[in-house]
Amino acid sequence: MKLDVIIPVYNEEGNVKLLHKKLSETLIDLDYELIFINDGSIDKTADRLANIYEEDKNHVKVINFSRNFGKDAAMYAGLTSAKAEYSVIIDGDCQQNPKYILTMLKYLEKNKNIDQVAMVNKERKKESFLNKILKKSFYKFINSISDTKFIIGASDFRMFRKNVVDAVISLGENNRFSKGIFSWVGFNTHYLEYEVEERNSGKTNFNLIKQFRYAFNGIINFSVKPLRIATVVGFITSIGSFIYLIIILLETLITGIAVPGYASLISIMLFLGGIQLVAIGILGEYISKTYLEAKKRPVYVTKNKLGFNEEIL
Ligand code: UDP
Ligand code: MG
Repeated sequence: MKLDVIIPVYNEEGNVKLLHKKLSETLIDLDYELIFINDGSIDKTADRLANIYEEDKNHVKVINFSRNFGKDAAMYAGLTSAKAEYSVIIDGDCQQNPKYILTMLKYLEKNKNIDQVAMVNKERKKESFLNKILKKSFYKFINSISDTKFIIGASDFRMFRKNVVDAVISLGENNRFSKGIFSWVGFNTHYLEYEVEERNSGKTNFNLIKQFRYAFNGIINFSVKPLRIATVVGFITSIGSFIYLIIILLETLITGIAVPGYASLISIMLFLGGIQLVAIGILGEYISKTYLEAKKRPVYVTKNKLGFNEEIL
């Protein structure tokens, strides 16, 4: 098998047929396979995928999850099932033109020293100014505190050689921040620019709050520096307050009892209390992640599969 196409889908009933058609047309000359991962959709996606499978059994495989586990879990399931020389991940909403699959494939065939090609979004037309600023700050921040490098706009629309796929799935962590994992495994990655198209049907699953959670998760997953930030801030405030204490003592000794500084006392107490809570909170974030990983629960649960040998046997 030359190429595995991994397609995570969640509530994409209006898109999967069109995407299947587009992919079939684009990849007609290749030895390929489409692995759809239905991430617990609550619309008619499962039925649509079953139809597509019936119509095109030679090329289509379907994994149905038992519930929604998130796009990262879906991509992991797809990569785990991929056996081909090259694997590519593409969204199920037709925002990413399949023609770029051929561009990536050509690039990897030509450049043997490159192991992964990732598509980088040029600016999303409909993205708000606030969203752009937040995205930029996130990338700046995470790059400054993490040893793993993150490229702004790099999407999950990317193609890997089999050795990269093996490396990615060898990371068995439960809470998967794929953008980080794809970079953490190393290898030579080449970035190509592309233009994101409008969604064919339905709406995005990633609103601002989800994006915030995603970014926060990425930071906790790929750096332990926030823990150190708490330590450093703790040291600085302790040293600062010690110096202030000496000043007050001296002042009292020299000029007699000072006027009671009620306001300053309260604000310093609140300030320190706040810092302590933040530090405990950061600690809690790491402990909760450790707790969840320690349970060693599977990344996803399969309800059923179509087109895999296990089913025919
Ligand atoms: N997706 C998924 N599980 C989820 C959310 C999204 O498999 O819990 C899929 C979705 O169907 C789509 C891709 O991930 O194929 C990207 O999602 P979306 O289009 O909502 O994100 P955006 O393009 O806005 O970043
Ligand atoms: Mg999309």
